[in-house]
Amino acid sequence: MSSDNSGLQAKLQVLENLFRERLPSKIQEMEVALERFLINPQDQEALTSLHRALHTMAGSAGTFGFSEIGVDAREFEKKLKPILTGETWTKKERNAYAKELRAYFEDAILCAANKIIPTLLEESVENQKEDASSRLVYMVDDDNETTQSIKVQLEHFGYEVVLITQLKSLAVAIATRRPDIVVMEFGSPDGKMAGADEIARIKLHARLHIPTIFVSHASSFENRLQAVRAGGDGYFTKPVDIVALTERIDAVVGREEPKSYRILVIDDDVVTSEYYGAVLRNAGMSVRTLHDPARMLNTLTDFRPELILLDVYMPLCSGVELSKMIRQDNSYLDIPIVFLSSENDMAKQLEAVKAGADDFITKPIEAQFLVSSLATRAERYRSLRALIMRDGLTGLYNHTAIKEELAAEISIAGRNQTSLALAVLDLDFFKNVNDTYGHPVGDQVLRTLSRLLKQRLRRSDIVGRYGGEEFVIIFPGTTAKVAGKVLDQIRVAFNKIEQHAEQGEFSVSFSAGVADLEQTIDADELFDIADSALYRAKQGGRNRIALASP
Ligand code: GH3
Ligand code: MG
Ligand code: MG
Repeated sequence: MSSDNSGLQAKLQVLENLFRERLPSKIQEMEVALERFLINPQDQEALTSLHRALHTMAGSAGTFGFSEIGVDAREFEKKLKPILTGETWTKKERNAYAKELRAYFEDAILCAANKIIPTLLEESVENQKEDASSRLVYMVDDDNETTQSIKVQLEHFGYEVVLITQLKSLAVAIATRRPDIVVMEFGSPDGKMAGADEIARIKLHARLHIPTIFVSHASSFENRLQAVRAGGDGYFTKPVDIVALTERIDAVVGREEPKSYRILVIDDDVVTSEYYGAVLRNAGMSVRTLHDPARMLNTLTDFRPELILLDVYMPLCSGVELSKMIRQDNSYLDIPIVFLSSENDMAKQLEAVKAGADDFITKPIEAQFLVSSLATRAERYRSLRALIMRDGLTGLYNHTAIKEELAAEISIAGRNQTSLALAVLDLDFFKNVNDTYGHPVGDQVLRTLSRLLKQRLRRSDIVGRYGGEEFVIIFPGTTAKVAGKVLDQIRVAFNKIEQHAEQGEFSVSFSAGVADLEQTIDADELFDIADSALYRAKQGGRNRIALASP
């Protein structure tokens, strides 16, 4: 098969079982015969087979309810007849026929697919697995200029964008591969509401929510109302502010981390702790179980739990003692501690509370209840931490938090004998951006960069806003050389992003310095070394990454 037919193959596959054998296999048969005929025009067998298939199609398509497909097949059959009986085509004529016939295949599939759309969508969409790593955007718009530029920009943010120029192709595309979001022209040439209607129809049949953002030339109240009624998740007027569009797509698609709270279970009894561990893991939490209290302190720094579930009675030391130990460390003053015990004694419970426990759960406890009460506490802790640790503008770790993270990560790296790289990054000529376009536009640039960093880096990499227009990235388990390469790709992508302002479009660059534990294992010193590398990158002309010399 030639490569431009791969899309056709995928669609055929979707149709295959749905179409009660006939149409897909007929098209398949014709496609194969056509291919053979093109390779060798003297291949009578191929020619006959193609003719026969067209004939069958012309005769039977009508009876299956596809009269248009039948009529067209008859035309192709007629054109082929003289060739079958000895006339010849020039190469040009042959290719023209093939081109038309292939377009007809596409059309026939679309026509068929649209007729059987309920089944098509239901069955295929159900079979599609969720793939969290790739984010697929379908853009339905025939305005090539707009879509191309949006496509390029979205790809910088790590989205995969597929352009769909015909509205009628959308349903088949969704059935073939489900997108995370559809961005579509609101006033399409197929009629004003055609796009919205189509989305409503697809949603109805597929019985799933496909987030949709509308893009339009018009900004009238009426249009916006229609978009809301069609279940739109956003409405943007052209020329589209790509940063705002990406932000909305991010929000709708929901890139934020799943709520897998980190729970530390400490219980000397292996069976009990493994049981509770399994219950919590089943609920999507991330659990570390510990049977030896002596290893608690290390686990606190490595695992950084968001809640600790403690047994009251343990041989080496009691839960109450452990809890006092945890509270002695300033970093863990506010971490929720929940006691889990068969203890019924009121006095013992009070003692636990005095030692800093937040709750006392009595065994046996129903799994559901355990999960929900721990989730509530962990969630509160997480949002409080976020308030303290996060920078308001970008949502990244703030100055204090990133320093804490760096210290913790260096100690883990030391213990595990792994490497760690630190990058300090600073926007180039950022003062100019503020002076030319205003402070709010400058803020927008800061948010764009922070989002790009979060999207392009690994989950385990830690990003912070160190101050103003300066960012810090911690790359656990990575050398400066590798981190520098990764960062360089981000540098290129960031520089290509079009920033929008009233005065027009512009782009921004950044410079960065990278160091790793080869240079030093002292956090402050590591920071200084990376910062001097940054200085060299600036001196060297900006828009570049400099590695600290070993
Ligand atoms: P260089 O390439 O040497 O880094 O030049 P620069 O202009 O980026 O550096 P400089 O340190 O002279 O200016 C930094 C500017 O960043 C000045 C300040 O107004 C701006 N800035 C700092 N924090 C924020 C912020 O939160 N929002 C906005 N919009 N601008 C900020
Ligand atoms: Mg700067
Ligand atoms: Mg600066």
